[in-house]
Amino acid sequence: MEIEKNLKNITRRIPEHVALVAVSKTKPNSDIMEAYNAGQRVFGENYVQEMVEKHEQLPRDIQWHFIGHLQSNKVKYIAPFVCLIHGVDSLKLLKEIDKQAKKNDRVIKCLFQMHIAEEETKFGLSENELEDILNFLRNDDNEMANIKITGLMGMATFTDDEKQIKKEFQYLKSVFDKYKQLQASNLKLETLSMGMSGDYQLAIDCGSTMVRIGSSIFGTRKAPKAN
Ligand SMILES: *Cc1c(COP(=O)(O)O)cnc(C)c1O
Repeated sequence: MEIEKNLKNITRRIPEHVALVAVSKTKPNSDIMEAYNAGQRVFGENYVQEMVEKHEQLPRDIQWHFIGHLQSNKVKYIAPFVCLIHGVDSLKLLKEIDKQAKKNDRVIKCLFQMHIAEEETKFGLSENELEDILNFLRNDDNEMANIKITGLMGMATFTDDEKQIKKEFQYLKSVFDKYKQLQASNLKLETLSMGMSGDYQLAIDCGSTMVRIGSSIFGTRKAPKAN
């Protein structure tokens, strides 16, 4: 009951043009089903093995988003079903996703993860690295027909300092706006994935079109597993 109530509270606060990814990492299937029965279909997971198991056990019409750091050698496990990969931060990874998508006769949507936080530990591309990859994609012969880059993703610094977070979201939005005119057969930036339980209102104010919310829906998690 709690989950359904939380979900309703959040969907009420999110404008219609903003998509909600319910982040269910570490949470049991029964929790996911409670959200599912309340109408939620998009779920986000961080761990490959966990997402594969949940996909096998839960309804087929769930759209699974991979939001964690993805290692190239694990792409093959999620390629048959993943709906959107949020954390792409290298050309090497992108090429592997394309290869595995092709094997599965699918096109997999991807977001480039940008490094916007102050912490060293957060993954993501610098603007220069993004530009290099975008230039590569705009070459007509980049030959990656089984991926589609549909936007950018970022995580703000873990801090109570709203000004700092806002600055980082605004920066990500400015990068998004700068490159969104660029187009290629497998590139069109439409989605800006930013905002979590603690900062999604701020993220939406700054232009987010997709929020990833876990603890505000499912309750706090136990200590995160190593990835
Ligand atoms: C865990 C996680 C979230 C959700 O975090 P909450 O604070 O529980 O809402 C969002 N995005 C990513 C990338 C995550 O790893």
